[in-house]
Amino acid sequence: MARCARPVGPDRGGQGGGRAAVAARGHPLLRDAAPAGDRRQQHAGQPRPRQQRLGPQRAEYTARRQLAQIDRFLRTRVPGFEESYVVQSGTHVGVRESRRVLGDYRLTGHDILAARTFPDVVAHGAYPVDIHNPRGSGTVLKRVPQGSFYDIPLRCLVPRDTERLLVAGRCISGTHVAHSSYRVMPIAMATGHAAGVCAALTVRHGRGPRGLPYRLVQRELLRQGARLRTSAD
Ligand SMILES: Cc1cc2nc3c(=O)[nH]c(=O)nc-3n(C[C@H](O)[C@H](O)[C@H](O)COP(=O)(O)OP(=O)(O)OC[C@H]3O[C@@H](n4cnc5c(N)ncnc54)[C@H](O)[C@@H]3O)c2cc1C
Repeated sequence: MARCARPVGPDRGGQGGGRAAVAARGHPLLRDAAPAGDRRQQHAGQPRPRQQRLGPQRAEYTARRQLAQIDRFLRTRVPGFEESYVVQSGTHVGVRESRRVLGDYRLTGHDILAARTFPDVVAHGAYPVDIHNPRGSGTVLKRVPQGSFYDIPLRCLVPRDTERLLVAGRCISGTHVAHSSYRVMPIAMATGHAAGVCAALTVRHGRGPRGLPYRLVQRELLRQGARLRTSAD
């Protein structure tokens, strides 16, 4: 998204009102926005049901609006940014957390913050518990003890009550708190590697993931160069 050729000041478009208004109404970046779809519906005289207004369209609209607001704020309020402009933005908004499977083990926030080890470890993580408040601003950040990391057991990749199915990435089995740590890309990739290796071995050995000794998975991961600390080490 490129910057407008004609600069938009903080008092234009009903969004600003100057420093006094910002102080009175709160920072514009933190204010909520009505998505374009809502306005169209209001004109048509048919308001939408509430649950339809709170979906991805609203997030997309709010994010684009905030991007323009941040751009304007930087240019008009931050010395040195007068000539800056937006070069690029994400193609669409992302969602940090959605559905997760319930697996043979459910990783918890306690496991993470205690840097817990498991015999059937297939991946590690050290990213903090990082919960972005789903209802507004604010983030909870709790770190794994310095110099340590936690284990993700193979059982988190094996959905309960099913056979011959594995999951990887952010939908593995864990609590909301644990997910806020293991959702990051390096850990998602490590569980993807483990799920791939496990799947290949189940085919080779003609049994489902539960019937496969986890040592085989660990040995193959190590052979392929994975950084894995097992209880056998
Ligand atoms: C705003 C935001 C910021 C983030 N910042 C960071 C960061 O700074 N660092 C970091 O490490 N992580 C970050 N993350 C987290 C990280 O990006 C994700 O948790 C991670 O990419 C998840 O990987 P995944 O492979 O599990 O899922 P995804 O990357 O979501 O991959 C799932 C794929 O499956 C596809 N798919 C879905 N349904 C179907 C279907 N029915 N058929 C076929 N394909 C399908 C999707 O299109 C998608 O390509 C961030 C996430 C968000 C939302």
